Amino acid sequence: MERTRRRLGVMGGTFDPIHHGHLVAASEVQSVFGLDEVIFVPTGRPWQKEDDRISDPEHRYLMTVVATAANPVFTVSRVDIDRPGRTYTIDTLRDLRKQFPDDDLFFITGADALTNILTWKNYDEIFDLAHFVGVTRPGHDLELGGLPADKVTLIEVPAMAISSTDCRTRVASGEPVWYLVPDGVVQYINKYALYTESSGNGS
Ligand code: ATP
Ligand code: MG
Repeated sequence: MERTRRRLGVMGGTFDPIHHGHLVAASEVQSVFGLDEVIFVPTGRPWQKEDDRISDPEHRYLMTVVATAANPVFTVSRVDIDRPGRTYTIDTLRDLRKQFPDDDLFFITGADALTNILTWKNYDEIFDLAHFVGVTRPGHDLELGGLPADKVTLIEVPAMAISSTDCRTRVASGEPVWYLVPDGVVQYINKYALYTESSGNGS
């Protein structure tokens, strides 16, 4: 008997740390597109951020697991953190396509990252591998620009003016991140003293 194609969301990110902006965006796209699952994919070494100090991939992976564990349709993939070298979205999509050859992939991206797709490696091929969903993000205009209209859908999601950069800065200066990130992520950050001067990983 032929299996029906599943609809899989792919939410790529550095997740340093994962916050409610990521989670609301993923949840909204899951609902609007009727996705069977949303796979969060923490990056290995993000090439666009090579000069920044990024937390250990295992910390970012585990925070993503902690943040998504309670949602039955959210999962986390290690494809990017287990692949040596820098992370390119084309490789993420190729790996997931191999893993799920019979399913449809929907790559979710915020307004800021969407604009960058034009500069991504293998620009043409990425649109053959997945449909792209661009979501609104406070402070950024959501527009197609030069992107193909049949391959990219733009949707509005509840506005969450939260960024990982801001969360890191807040932790480093002793300000709270409660309610910006899930409770378990606050506790994880405290447990491993992430983003503090002395921790030396991504502050
Ligand atoms: P940083 O400040 O370190 O760049 P970030 O908050 O932008 O972190 P990323 O891990 O870079 O988080 O983002 C992963 C994906 O989530 C990107 O597609 C980004 O556009 C999207 N995203 C991040 N924050 C939001 C938000 N508040 N609302 C909507 N989309 C978001
Ligand atoms: Mg970002």
